[in-house]
Amino acid sequence: MNILIATSEIAPFAKAGGLADVVSSLAIEWAKLGETPIVILPKYGFIDIYKYAFEPTEHTIIVPMGQWFEYARLWQGFLPNSGVPIYLIEHNIYFDRNGIYGDPNEYNDNDRRFIFFSRAIFEVAKILNFKPDIIHAHDYHTAFCMAFLKSYYIHDPLFKECAGVFTIHNLAYQGKFNPENALMYSGFGMKEFYPGSWFEKYGTVNAMKTGIMFADKITTVSPTYSREIRYPYFSEGLQDELNQRGADLIGVLNGVNYDEWNPEIDNEIFEKYSINEFDKKYNNKKQFLFEHGFTNEDDLDLPLISMVTRLTEQKGIDLLATKLEYFLHKYKFRFALLGSGERRYTDFFHYIAWKYPKLAIIDIGYNNNLSHKLFAASDFFLMPSRFEPCGLTQMYSMKYGTIPIARIAGGLADTIMEYNYENSQGSGFLFWQYNADDFSYAIERALQIYNNQPHWNNIRRNAMANNFSSEKSALDYIEVFNWAHEKIK
Ligand code: ADP
Repeated sequence: MNILIATSEIAPFAKAGGLADVVSSLAIEWAKLGETPIVILPKYGFIDIYKYAFEPTEHTIIVPMGQWFEYARLWQGFLPNSGVPIYLIEHNIYFDRNGIYGDPNEYNDNDRRFIFFSRAIFEVAKILNFKPDIIHAHDYHTAFCMAFLKSYYIHDPLFKECAGVFTIHNLAYQGKFNPENALMYSGFGMKEFYPGSWFEKYGTVNAMKTGIMFADKITTVSPTYSREIRYPYFSEGLQDELNQRGADLIGVLNGVNYDEWNPEIDNEIFEKYSINEFDKKYNNKKQFLFEHGFTNEDDLDLPLISMVTRLTEQKGIDLLATKLEYFLHKYKFRFALLGSGERRYTDFFHYIAWKYPKLAIIDIGYNNNLSHKLFAASDFFLMPSRFEPCGLTQMYSMKYGTIPIARIAGGLADTIMEYNYENSQGSGFLFWQYNADDFSYAIERALQIYNNQPHWNNIRRNAMANNFSSEKSALDYIEVFNWAHEKIK
């Protein structure tokens, strides 16, 4: 199957969150399964083209934008450790910047940048003579691909047997655009803008809605999230559209690339370890603490509860912020955070680092190497998310024998099972209500097991034995792609 992946992120070249990891591991798995994926990505200014050996091709693509054309050069490289070709679209006015979506605030021409990109992918396929069976678009940035496929390209011999699959990674970011601009750039014109049209939502053009309405099949990144988003609490206003397309909406759980996230082979951590080598895991913790200025004088055995996260409301940071000091006084643990995001939260964590130098380790910023070290070093991993489409970090942390304390939402509900002392099953601690008391009680239960050696080892073994490999998820997507084809026959 020829799979054209249109994405605004892919690891390791351009990553803002889980989307990048997931697209990358899917492409690798599909290639292993004998499919033919190609990836098309904007050529962002920060991509290290020398390190990853990208080269310019001889092709210039001509991209129709409403009433005019724009030009872009095509570059080519490969996804590391795979033969998957990556094509970069060079349009410096749009993409030669330090950010993907903003730096730090959203760029105000994201409508134009991503509508251009969504149209350009068709012109890339044409110039390469790549006949896709599937166009797989991700989140609002490439949602317009679904509309273009069903309009301008529907009779094009290269695309007329091609189905469109749209994956929702996070409904919180919808691409709400000025209608006149968005419909001018995309060429559809204001005649398409009326209440209830496939572009319109609450008086704006809503790219996420456009993707949902035009796609042959819609997937989202966990089965629970695919059910939750049919209700207003989780739908971010799109419950009507999601229910309307309910028969074509499927949850496929994200998978993990265990070639990258596995303590047995991870070169980023201090000492590699496998399922029964908890002493080596402990060495990772000690080393991490030493690197952060702690000495043998400090109580190195204190349980280490950590987070690696974007600092946004979604991740439950406000819930944590109301109670972190209380927890630090009430319970015995050390807290470590690696995160970047909203200023109100970074200010708060700077304050915590200042006030509790022996109990809190705060790294503000984005640091892949440190994230690996933190997964290996920690005892517990905190995810009090208000909503969580899938979440990868709870799966990474479990692989490293680090026990998640999480809210029952989205993918967290699909991947973590509460530990049961009766039968020694389960690999985490969960709470349901989004409130500080339930959260606090989950932390309390987690800290209790830390001092109960047999159960502490059981739960860590259970966590490490979980298998959320991306191969399973890649196979599930192939099934969805086949369904999408059934639909267009
Ligand atoms: P989301 O996509 O909502 O941010 P996920 O759990 O799906 O959440 O994926 C987050 C990804 O980003 C993981 O690979 C995680 O390790 C990484 N990540 C998040 N914040 C940081 C950070 N500050 N430094 C390094 N990696 C981070």
